[in-house]
Amino acid sequence: MNDSMTTNDSKQKSLRDVIVIGSGPAGYTAALYLARAELKPLVFAGESWGGQLMLTTTVDDYPGFESGIQGPDLMEKMRKQAARFGAEIVDRTASKVDFSTKPFRVWVGGPSTALNVTSSGRAQDDKTDSESLSVLSSEKGEIYRAKTVVIATGAESKLLGVPGEKEFMGRGVSTCAVCDAPFYKGKEQTYVVGGGDAAMEEALALAKYANRVGVIHRRDTLKSSKIMQRRVEEKKNVEFLWNSEVMEIKGSKEQNKATGVVVNNNKTGETRELPMDGIFIAIGHTPASTVFKAQIELDEKGYIVSRLGLSAKSVALARDHLNDMGILEYPTMTSVEGVFAAGDVVDFRYRQAVTAAGWGCMAAMDVEKFLTGTMSSW
Ligand code: NDP
Repeated sequence: MNDSMTTNDSKQKSLRDVIVIGSGPAGYTAALYLARAELKPLVFAGESWGGQLMLTTTVDDYPGFESGIQGPDLMEKMRKQAARFGAEIVDRTASKVDFSTKPFRVWVGGPSTALNVTSSGRAQDDKTDSESLSVLSSEKGEIYRAKTVVIATGAESKLLGVPGEKEFMGRGVSTCAVCDAPFYKGKEQTYVVGGGDAAMEEALALAKYANRVGVIHRRDTLKSSKIMQRRVEEKKNVEFLWNSEVMEIKGSKEQNKATGVVVNNNKTGETRELPMDGIFIAIGHTPASTVFKAQIELDEKGYIVSRLGLSAKSVALARDHLNDMGILEYPTMTSVEGVFAAGDVVDFRYRQAVTAAGWGCMAAMDVEKFLTGTMSSW
């Protein structure tokens, strides 16, 4: 990638058809489809590319790998596949965007900020008059311009921040029971941390495989929906550890895995070390959407609102975009025409590599239809 394309000879390729921001399954799948549609996507993959699967060990639920595949290997394969068809992948982070005028602008380098939009709809920032260059030098980084943008920046699992948690991640500590529960088949004792719907879902997934599941929750009532709570309570092999906080995750360096959890009861003050085979942290996710704040609509939790999104705001947006035949136009489009979103930055429910990849495919196909004005052919 030539970062200094500020000369006149770059005018031919001045304006990108599409920029993809993000490099998890959604970003790379979008890039693959866009590249195969000959739209020459420019992908800002981030300095540490690959998303959440880079922190995973064996992935057994991505179709096509009958013996499983290591998370980082899967991401490398996706990356190479997109590159094979001409996706231009740059391992840099988009630090700022301006979706208030067209073409859209994406900053790379410089401090990450959410650009504010004025009442006139124009972004408040330094502007350049040159409309012809795709990459413009700026003291705050480079500015790239594109007709459309696909946001696929994902979400991060929140962590407890206790000793041992990161050290044993993927080795007895997990953030996805739906993905990893089968590895605990016949194991004696596992734990889930959290009291929301995700924690209940994790407990239900684990209860199918592990002999015993303990749900460690910091309060004495759950945040989850009643129905999820009831389903968990009906499981004979699940117990709740109320008013309990995880202080540390213990492990064996020799065996290279987590072996115990230190729990403090915040009512009695008692601290215990409980032996275990695995622990699942389910205390929420943080969508990587800060950079887009004030540029596109986000829901209350920071997930991007899209016509295909799962929140009430997304459903409302979708209703406004049903065509005369009652068909939803550009389902992956956000509140800004020409800006699309895919994967976990939109999806707070399914959060699977395969669903993110599918979402990336849909976004790419919507971009192609949008650029060619052929939505009506569907
Ligand atoms: P939530 O924010 O709903 O719940 C997070 C839970 O983790 C809370 O119980 C919270 O405790 C606890 N927690 C947060 N931080 C800490 C911490 N530092 N230490 C210990 N505990 C902590 O997140 P979820 O991921 O569960 O759900 C997100 C959204 O997705 C929700 O809207 C949910 O309904 C939805 N969802 C729906 C599902 C379904 O319908 N099947 C499945 C999964 C998610 P406290 O209660 O004390 O605040």
